[in-house]
Amino acid sequence: MADILKRLFTVPKCKHCFKPADRENLCDSCRDMLDNCRIKNPALPINKKIDMVNESYASYKYEKRARQVITRAKFQNPAPFLASLLDDISIDINRILSQNNIDMVVSVPCHKSKLYRQEFDLPSEMAKRIAKHCNVPYSVCVVKVRRTDKQHSLPKEKRKANLVNAFEVQGNVSGRNILVIDDVITTGYTVSAVATELKLAGRNRVYVWAYTLNT
Ligand SMILES: [Zn+2]
Repeated sequence: MADILKRLFTVPKCKHCFKPADRENLCDSCRDMLDNCRIKNPALPINKKIDMVNESYASYKYEKRARQVITRAKFQNPAPFLASLLDDISIDINRILSQNNIDMVVSVPCHKSKLYRQEFDLPSEMAKRIAKHCNVPYSVCVVKVRRTDKQHSLPKEKRKANLVNAFEVQGNVSGRNILVIDDVITTGYTVSAVATELKLAGRNRVYVWAYTLNT
């Protein structure tokens, strides 16, 4: 009953253009354009070697509509994106979880100072929803312990050094198969820095899934 009332009174918004949309939070034109960015076999590992990461995956190419969807979710309004996240990617995620026996989900953490600014912590909200939907524990064991410059603001040769000692694993994490969630993979340095800490913390296998892959 509550569900029916909720549906009557909340008109879904398109996660890209925020116009009225269908139940999957997409209007027809944005759906076509988003489909064009879809990676063909999202449950197959992407062809990119990332240090300390066992396998990495992505569902969309970071271009056109997919890129706009992520940018708007981060800087304008995350609600339509998050409301429909699982419609897009639950098949991908379920396959990735089962083929790698994933037993813990984490997100690439942001420094707490970021939360005071305008930017929204998209990876953690994505990871919480994915973990709940797939019935796998979500952990906040990875913490960002110092501020870093924005990766995309730096020349490529400085991006790796920017992340040295930026992350820390807190608590006892060992012998797990962990999926790290992020919104975009670009160089892979950030998830690599997170994976390094997770591997130092114990005999963990570390996998990564990002909504988009920026090649
Ligand atoms: Zn739209």
